[in-house]
Amino acid sequence: MKRLYLLIIAVMLSACQPQLVASTVLPPSPTLEPSASPSPTQTKSSTSQPTQTMLLPTSTIQAFQVCSPLEEETLDTLSSILVNPLVIPPFGRDDGHHGLDFSYYRRDARESIEGIGVFTILSGTTVLILPDEIPYGNTIVIETPLSELPESLQEKLQSFYQLIPEDIYYQGECPEISPPTFTGRLSVYHLYAHLENPPSFQMGEVINCGVQLGTVGNTGRSSNPHLHLETRLGPSGADLGDMAFYETKYTEAQQANYCLWRMSGYFQLFDPYLIFNAWLADLTH
Ligand SMILES: [Zn+2]
Repeated sequence: MKRLYLLIIAVMLSACQPQLVASTVLPPSPTLEPSASPSPTQTKSSTSQPTQTMLLPTSTIQAFQVCSPLEEETLDTLSSILVNPLVIPPFGRDDGHHGLDFSYYRRDARESIEGIGVFTILSGTTVLILPDEIPYGNTIVIETPLSELPESLQEKLQSFYQLIPEDIYYQGECPEISPPTFTGRLSVYHLYAHLENPPSFQMGEVINCGVQLGTVGNTGRSSNPHLHLETRLGPSGADLGDMAFYETKYTEAQQANYCLWRMSGYFQLFDPYLIFNAWLADLTH
């Protein structure tokens, strides 16, 4: 009798499983859980060859992991193709350089960086997808709540977050901006610009570390194919809308969002290497 019960339970379980999988449409994701000993290299190679395996939905973001943003590169090798460093301007100004640029003309057997895969550096949720406009070109922005990061990294990033001045003089005649609702919670926003094609993700989609977002391109204000990687700390749950600037054809709303993102002081730039180095220094993985 006991055997019969076990048999019935086994049949029920095997009958349920395919239904769960078949009814779920999911973005490509390398794994449900981080592997026992994940490394940026392993993650990168697993995602550069996406499998067709159907996975159960991930309702929460994966455990902390940092992945290389570029195919064929690890977090250790990225510095050798860094062609334009971060230069943080004062609040209200749009000069400096709001991220890191990675590029090369020739590297090993590769003729150009154009077409090389671009991957998420952290797990998070899609909060902005921009078409090919000035200056960012095809772009995707992903939000990762600060609380998802290790405490030591949270503290370090938070220590860089400055008080936002009440009065900011905006360079470039920004339209009036409406400040985001600030609940006191902060998130890391990571932006990947100048992609070759529009990213095929939806807003609010959970994208895990190491998932391919697109390929390196030359869209937007860009003179050579490169990846512009921008990381900011700002109020969680921000509605970034659309953004574009420096062309009269763009709407006031697009320009206001651009100024909010880049100049208002709410979304404060920091060096992505703070995240990379936190992962490289953590020898427990
Ligand atoms: Zn750049």
